[in-house]
Amino acid sequence: MITRKIQTSTPQATEALATSIGARFRGGEIIELVSDLGGGKTTFTRGLASGIGSKDVVASPTFTISKIYTSEKLTLHHFDFYRLNNSGLIAHELHDVMQDANAVVVVEWADIVKEVLPVTRLTVTIAKIVNDEGRLFTFSCPDELSYLLEDA
Ligand code: ADP
Ligand code: MG
Repeated sequence: MITRKIQTSTPQATEALATSIGARFRGGEIIELVSDLGGGKTTFTRGLASGIGSKDVVASPTFTISKIYTSEKLTLHHFDFYRLNNSGLIAHELHDVMQDANAVVVVEWADIVKEVLPVTRLTVTIAKIVNDEGRLFTFSCPDELSYLLEDA
């Protein structure tokens, strides 16, 4: 496993950080975002979408559960399971998307689908730094995903 810690001090910096990671996607990656509400998971996802070259608008899919952002080569599937109690159907959708070699999957509030998420994923944990717009990002992934964090 690899671990990296990076701090940002503005939402723009968080987006830029995510854009550099999104630009490295090859297809097939799974990203799990962990933080409290307002931590910056959706902001980070906005950067990932721009990193794959998508111009689609990224917003919190809390009430729709999943959204898709497209670029020429890849599709970014953005799931948000906040307060979802029954994962049945959506876990199925998640499972299907993970078979698509050109799809990248980003999941907020993944607890309810933890057992369908592969071990080979990038976990991004975001902690607020008190009294600031600061955020501490902890990235962790198995070695085979190290290309996502190069120079980070
Ligand atoms: P989540 O999806 O985790 O609930 P959001 O990305 O929707 O979080 O919201 C994060 C909020 O925190 C936004 O209003 C954003 O402007 C603000 N914010 C302040 N500082 C940062 C930062 N460094 N990184 C990301 N978001 C930040
Ligand atoms: Mg969110």
